[in-house]
Amino acid sequence: MAKDSIYRRRISSEEAREGYIMVLKSALGFFPAIGVDFAMDEGGAVRKARVESYHCECRGSELPHEHYFIKAGGLKQGALVKIEKDPRTPGKFVLRNVGS
Ligand SMILES: [Zn+2]
Repeated sequence: MAKDSIYRRRISSEEAREGYIMVLKSALGFFPAIGVDFAMDEGGAVRKARVESYHCECRGSELPHEHYFIKAGGLKQGALVKIEKDPRTPGKFVLRNVGS
């Protein structure tokens, strides 16, 4: 499926522990702008979510860059999650845990 209609992510141990889903830079265009709240449906429970960024030097202080993430608790390491746009409600997203 085209990458602009769905975002897939396998949850790492750090994401599970810290409670977030990493958003790859190449997928930023899929989501509303950084810092802008949007509705995310998680199994029928709708909550506010947003893409956030943090400054990172994981490749060394000479290669500073940003990482992007959405806070999301209760995800297990190795879980595969899908985020899709709700076709009926513009601006609303649906998060599904599709197993491992
Ligand atoms: Zn980094």
